[in-house]
Amino acid sequence: MEAKKRLQAGTKSVWAGEKEYLVHGATQVPVVHSVAYNYDDIDEWYEVAIGKRKGHIYGRNTNPTVQSFEDKVKILEHAEAATSFSTGMAAISNSLLTILKPGDRVVSIKDTYGGTNKIFSEFLPRLNIEVELVETGNHEEMEREIAKGCNLVYLETPTNPTVKITDIVRITKAAKKVGALVFVDNTFATPINQNPLTLGVDLVIHSATKFLGGHADALGGVVCGSESLVKDIYHYREINGATMDPMAAYLILRGMKTLKLRVEKQQENAMKVAQFLEDHEKIEQVYYPGLQTHTNHEIAKKQMKGFGGMLSFALKGELDAVRQFLPKLEYAHRAANLGAVETTVGPARTTSHVENTPEERAALGIPEGLVRYSAGIEDIDDLLNDLKQALDEIKSH
Ligand SMILES: *Cc1c(COP(=O)(O)O)cnc(C)c1O
Repeated sequence: MEAKKRLQAGTKSVWAGEKEYLVHGATQVPVVHSVAYNYDDIDEWYEVAIGKRKGHIYGRNTNPTVQSFEDKVKILEHAEAATSFSTGMAAISNSLLTILKPGDRVVSIKDTYGGTNKIFSEFLPRLNIEVELVETGNHEEMEREIAKGCNLVYLETPTNPTVKITDIVRITKAAKKVGALVFVDNTFATPINQNPLTLGVDLVIHSATKFLGGHADALGGVVCGSESLVKDIYHYREINGATMDPMAAYLILRGMKTLKLRVEKQQENAMKVAQFLEDHEKIEQVYYPGLQTHTNHEIAKKQMKGFGGMLSFALKGELDAVRQFLPKLEYAHRAANLGAVETTVGPARTTSHVENTPEERAALGIPEGLVRYSAGIEDIDDLLNDLKQALDEIKSH
């Protein structure tokens, strides 16, 4: 057990959470598609059903392949427990609805993921839950709002798409003072770069669709935290039904074996792309927490092991320039996804913030000419050459 604790993230990515689920001497976790489980002994069946004995009853509750995935993430996030979902949004909504009730108050930031933002602006207010969204990165304002009293502080760092950073330790301290829980969406950082639970946070959330899976072929979500909090969230999910599919669990589990390798390569590429773009005459601004020029570079350095594979940049000439530039990229999918082995790009207005109006995006500090760039694992020279030729295609005004 002690030896296990000292294991590093790369080794955990490969080995953690699998042993218990291997059968027939197989070296890989099987995909168990069975919906239900047979018991010849009805007393044993009953004991499993009431949780007195280990085992599986029905696929909406638990599944061995899905549990193996949960165990791997749990160990990577230094958590007591983890439970999974059909998508990242299901993980977020189910976790919120497990703990919140009418009359509660939530403090969060303005530029959470678009879907999360919609839960805050559209669905929670319907339940008479008050949501206060503060300027991302304005720690003083956030502390003031938290001090007024709240039940939950919800963070996402780095954010999507302008990769803003919030100081997790500082905000968690403020939350604890008023007895609020703290949730952190750790999708962009991945467990390789950031473990919010070790910084005092109560729940870590991932869209497993992105970096965890890494191959853009399976949807999933997962949350990690204390035994008691995760048990409550699991209960909400088993009844409400946003269960992860065993095939998705298998694909993401397989993808996770290379998580550290991929993230290291992606952030190495992201850094070089950011540096290249920063010096380019057709670029207005580059957003990457690894750059000295990033507003919260120092906080990122303090709480992250690496700066991640996500960046964004604003082209001079706004949307017109984006229209000319994006189709010319050869080695990038123009798609509403991120964290995959292939470089993936898209304008914020069709990806992370498609649900918002141009006015709302402007208020959020998202220029119409903003391009989100998820660095893949390609060779950097090819990515830079590709960017260079595509930028050359933009006709100056
Ligand atoms: C994609 C994403 C989500 C939502 O995940 P889905 O799997 O698409 O439901 C949540 N948070 C962040 C930061 C994301 O990038």
